[in-house]
Amino acid sequence: MIKKRVLVVGAGIFGASTALALSDANYDVVLIDAGPIPHPLATSTDISKACRMEYGSDLVYMELMEEAFLGWDRWNKEWQEQGLAPLFHKAGILFLTTEPMSPGSFELDSFTALRTKNWNPQRLSPSLLKESFPAWSEGGFQDGLFNPQAGFAESSKVVRRLIEMAKRKGVEVLPNCPVKELMETEVAGKKKVTGARCSTGQSFEADEVILCTGVWTKRLCPELDQCFKISSHPVFHFKLPERHREFFSRERFPVFAADVTQTGVYGFPVIDGIIKIATHGLGQLVTPDSPREVSQSQHRTLRNFLKKSVPMLKDAELVESRLCFYCDTQDEDFWIARDPARAGLTVATGGSGHGFKFAPILGDIVLNVIDGQQSSWTKKFSWRPKLRQEMGNEEARAHNQE
Ligand SMILES: Cc1cc2nc3c(=O)[nH]c(=O)nc-3n(C[C@H](O)[C@H](O)[C@H](O)COP(=O)(O)OP(=O)(O)OC[C@H]3O[C@@H](n4cnc5c(N)ncnc54)[C@H](O)[C@@H]3O)c2cc1C
Repeated sequence: MIKKRVLVVGAGIFGASTALALSDANYDVVLIDAGPIPHPLATSTDISKACRMEYGSDLVYMELMEEAFLGWDRWNKEWQEQGLAPLFHKAGILFLTTEPMSPGSFELDSFTALRTKNWNPQRLSPSLLKESFPAWSEGGFQDGLFNPQAGFAESSKVVRRLIEMAKRKGVEVLPNCPVKELMETEVAGKKKVTGARCSTGQSFEADEVILCTGVWTKRLCPELDQCFKISSHPVFHFKLPERHREFFSRERFPVFAADVTQTGVYGFPVIDGIIKIATHGLGQLVTPDSPREVSQSQHRTLRNFLKKSVPMLKDAELVESRLCFYCDTQDEDFWIARDPARAGLTVATGGSGHGFKFAPILGDIVLNVIDGQQSSWTKKFSWRPKLRQEMGNEEARAHNQE
């Protein structure tokens, strides 16, 4: 049987997971990216991304994450059997609050949802925080939860590893192929995408083209301009002073989100001597070419937070800071769907600040779309161009991100 040829454009986590799932399903896959892989400006590129199932009262994403956790465990096992290091780490996650968690709050709703699903989170108290997680200042956080099931993935390394796996399964992977336009024809009066042309002069023909192009998607599909919003969020990497190292291990300083609906601050245990801390919130609207420098006031805000809440890090040496860009849909649900106006084109993006953790199942959802198999996920992540008008209130954001 002749294999269908699929061109996946964009080798971030959506593209890597897609290439892997499609090659497993016996498609003939080519994966290309505009630059080196992982691309330094890709949203997926960083030392870590949080993997957690706390979504307030939203059990739908919690269930999707339950499946994704099984996938992470499978990958870790497979990698260890091959003598490779695991890249998902079940360090647990701490949600800290300065006020007692109140009904309707993200933290209490998440705590209740975890219990409903028998995940057994621990409720935090100042004494538990002091005993178990001593890097946190005393007297600051009063309440919260600890869920040992969560953790983090070493994100750039994951992208690289998945691409190695895809190559072994026969996927052709080509960096430095910036797509400038889609190739189209008309079949029986209907438009059909037949491939993509790069600014380097190369072109790729394919039966199916899948755009996993993150914040750059609107460039290739300008008609989606109203559907995605690009927002910037600061990320900081600090060198952990040697003398404090014991306080920031995975066991004593798990992934955290500190009063996250107000401060937006979250962070990670030490990885190779580096502590990553970031903030999310509404962010600032940007374009893919906007500068990536973090502002002085963003630096000051973070230093003030550290001084107050994690004093051992207050003077830690900053080794990197940058703005990372979210590709937000208006409802923060992903966008994994066929273009209803053009056969042969699928768009898989809209990570909305929380996509990485689902890496083990993103590709399977894309595969369902390509194969025409409907599921509750393909419905949720459908092509929905009217979203912006329907949603109306731009400020109405749930607290899905990270
Ligand atoms: C600061 C920050 C923190 C985050 N934290 C978390 C977290 O803790 N947990 C979590 O689950 N998620 C998190 N996210 C969200 C997550 O990182 C994203 O949802 C996910 O990485 C998006 O992946 P992607 O593949 O869609 O995009 P990208 O990783 O941006 O990949 C897109 C790729 O497409 C390529 N490309 C674009 N245009 C073209 C073209 N024309 N031709 C060829 N190639 C092209 C690019 O070069 C790039 O490599 C965070 C995001 C940010 C910004």
